[in-house]
Amino acid sequence: MPFPPLVDPAPVLGTAERLRYARHTRLPEIGEVGQRRLTAARVLVVGAGGLGSPSLTYLAAAGVGTIGIVDDDVVEVSNLHRQPVHSEADLGRDKAASAADRVRAINPHVSVRVHRERFSAASAEQLVGAYDLVVDGADNFATRYLVTDACALAGIPHVWASINTFAGQLSVWWAGRGPCYRCVFPAPPPPGSVASCAEAGVIGVLPGVMGTLQAAEAIKLITGVGEPAVGRIVLHDALAGTWEAVPVRARPDCDLCGESPSISRPVEEGLTREVPVIVATDLAAAIADGSEDVIVLDVREAEEFSEGRILPSVHVPLGELLAGTARDQIARWSAASGGVVVYCRGGTRSAQAVGYLLEQGVETARSLDGGIIAWNAQVAGDPGPP
Ligand SMILES: [Zn+2]
Repeated sequence: MPFPPLVDPAPVLGTAERLRYARHTRLPEIGEVGQRRLTAARVLVVGAGGLGSPSLTYLAAAGVGTIGIVDDDVVEVSNLHRQPVHSEADLGRDKAASAADRVRAINPHVSVRVHRERFSAASAEQLVGAYDLVVDGADNFATRYLVTDACALAGIPHVWASINTFAGQLSVWWAGRGPCYRCVFPAPPPPGSVASCAEAGVIGVLPGVMGTLQAAEAIKLITGVGEPAVGRIVLHDALAGTWEAVPVRARPDCDLCGESPSISRPVEEGLTREVPVIVATDLAAAIADGSEDVIVLDVREAEEFSEGRILPSVHVPLGELLAGTARDQIARWSAASGGVVVYCRGGTRSAQAVGYLLEQGVETARSLDGGIIAWNAQVAGDPGPP
């Protein structure tokens, strides 16, 4: 399905730009207006590695006006067989800075923003909020889910690709217009079940192929040309030399983009492990009994209080908890005879919080299964706690 152009065109092209992009503007589908859309576009590339190398290179060459690069890694010699945005002379340098130099060398009309940081739960929304679309060149599931969450919450598309040994996959995830990544992959595979490129190896040209395709999808989205890979996963088998496309659908029960989503902030998957849970009716009974001191910790944002609260409870939003702002209270919580029960909207953030509290030595921490949604459904009608 075609989509309208994602970006409004910049006012005019200068003479130097007209010359540079002449082969683009000659294409009737792109034309000068399409090129002006590219000039106005802001694209964030997450990861200046194997996939980021070609996508950064071609987006810069194509004249995408603002390119952000997020990476906290440094260039190592084992990167060079598949990351030609860096060269021998860049060994030991920050990848983001090294890639930015290459982008500037390719096209001085591009404004480059260097984000020399890890794409984290704390920074994801702010980073993504400054861009029209994201190209995900991450090599790990934690970042991939953060990109997914931040893009879906911002309502912007993200061009994803993943590579392993000789096989590549690509799709454009766009909550509201098609499936999001979580519709198809609701949760990451168990740690250790999927070998990384570092463990399994990867043929060096494969990220080149898939990352170039990511740049093509980004250009299509920006200019509204063709049919972006929304609602399908494109599979490439480099050994067989074949391509196929598998249709995928949005799920109404998706935690992120479904009818009653439970994710309202980017979730750092991978930090979340199996955590002890308590069901809503058991928590209600424990509070009503009152013989033990149960600490109820609400890790939602204040603007979510309209969905109801469990009272009494302590309010520390997840981001603040993980940032260590509640360190002083944690010792007191550990001493509570009835333990600590953490809740959020649907149980995902609370599980993450419980993982953190367990690491901090709060052995009684449990997550309210299903969050305030389950509480409202199962305890609603009860007079409940005051
Ligand atoms: Zn979804």
